Amino acid sequence: MSQQPAEDRYQSMSYRRCGRSGLALPGIALGLWHNFGEVDRYEDARAMVLRAFDLGITHFDLANNYGPPPGSAERTFGRILREDLGAHRDELIISSKAGYLMWPGPYGDHGSRKYLLASLDQSLRRLGLEYVDVFYHHRPDPKTPLEESLGALAHAVRSGKALYAGISSYPAELTRQAAGLLREMGTPCLVHQPKYSMLNRWIEDGLLEVLREEGIGCAAFSPLAQGLLSDRYLEGIPADSRAAKPHGFLRRDQVDAATLGKVRRLNELARARGQSLAQMALAWVLRHPEMTTALVGASRVAQIEEAVGALAQLGFGADELAAIEGILAG
Ligand code: NDP
Repeated sequence: MSQQPAEDRYQSMSYRRCGRSGLALPGIALGLWHNFGEVDRYEDARAMVLRAFDLGITHFDLANNYGPPPGSAERTFGRILREDLGAHRDELIISSKAGYLMWPGPYGDHGSRKYLLASLDQSLRRLGLEYVDVFYHHRPDPKTPLEESLGALAHAVRSGKALYAGISSYPAELTRQAAGLLREMGTPCLVHQPKYSMLNRWIEDGLLEVLREEGIGCAAFSPLAQGLLSDRYLEGIPADSRAAKPHGFLRRDQVDAATLGKVRRLNELARARGQSLAQMALAWVLRHPEMTTALVGASRVAQIEEAVGALAQLGFGADELAAIEGILAG
């Protein structure tokens, strides 16, 4: 039975302008990389998406290859749209991407026009949509001319199959070039999606500056370092955690003693602020004015509720920021 969304869903979420565009995104967005595949329970996936929407999360991030198997997260989301959220399509910002291996042969990976546009058509079929809101090139492809990959994004927008273009994991200088090329093509780059968390700070070394100057929004992925920046692993590796799952991208050896030592100290600091560590980690990501949204993953509804709770306390004192720097450097 299709469920009516909460009437108060827009009352507490804060929306932030995506770069210099007219589009606002929720401070917390939900990504469907893990836990929405065919290997996962449909009812859990549905419950998470519906609860997210009830909390004012309007942005759902997908990619051609999310699952497993690849493609199945888009099918799951397509079913939720069909059975529950179809009437709310215009309230949703749905993104997809292409750039990693999707099908065999020379046209199922990387950045050619052939691959990107064929993949977008496949994504639309799986999602049951006429268009996605954002179509991303998932990663740079040094073997394809930049003009070709970006030209495919611009074409997707001109043909009405995407409303906006985005890029993911492009380094700073390439992002600057991409921004210029996309602007010339009449399809300004809406958003960049980089990995960013307390445990991975590469974007502070040039990319944020480029995004600010070019007016591109930023959607940080893996802001909890796949769950490491929470209390998830403080007592070992739980059997139902990402690190324990054979298809999870967090490897057991990434849950190491040095990282856990930092996580424990960060956890104490977060508690002293009256937040959970996951909430402090999200607030910390969102402290940059260039940051539009923290793109979280979840395996259960409570994690989404906790993430949204971070927005109630985003501020940091200089002493707190210094303490975090000290822990991360230690
Ligand atoms: P996170 O860093 O937010 O990790 C999410 C995982 O952390 C959850 O699945 C859960 O794992 C655990 N977790 C979440 N909240 C809590 C909590 N409150 N307490 C304890 N554990 C928690 O993000 P993801 O790595 O999932 O990435 C988010 C999204 O970013 C993806 O879904 C995708 O849309 C996008 N992405 C984009 C990429 C790109 O190349 N552009 C690459 C990777 C991701 P558990 O299963 O253990 O409960």
